Amino acid sequence: MDERPLASLSPSPVAAPQCESCVGSGEYPTDYGLVDCPDCGGAGYLPTRHTLVEWRMRDIERANDAGLKVTAADVRWLLSEVRQARGALRGVVALSHDLPHDQSIATQLRMTAERALGEVASRPAPRVDEPPA
Ligand SMILES: [Zn+2]
Repeated sequence: MDERPLASLSPSPVAAPQCESCVGSGEYPTDYGLVDCPDCGGAGYLPTRHTLVEWRMRDIERANDAGLKVTAADVRWLLSEVRQARGALRGVVALSHDLPHDQSIATQLRMTAERALGEVASRPAPRVDEPPA
């Protein structure tokens, strides 16, 4: 079993690259005073790719909800993210076929990835008051 502490799985301010826009201060000067740096969200260091993707998806979602036009660049970016995620899921499916030790884990991995890829019919989640099948 992996004995790594959970803290090592997420970047720390010391390990993460410093934000060049605010030089690590997390502040951004405007005509109305200091605000959180728009590039690092006020943290002073660059967020992980996961965080950047989540921020951009939320920005696009909020813009769309507010009736603003989603740009062609936004759509291209979203399609690129979907393609990358589907490629990763195909890799998971391929790896799960090679897992010789625990077929239940391999089956669960493959079914989860195939369901996300739309390659198997997904079943509705069991109701809370029903026992698992
Ligand atoms: Zn910054």
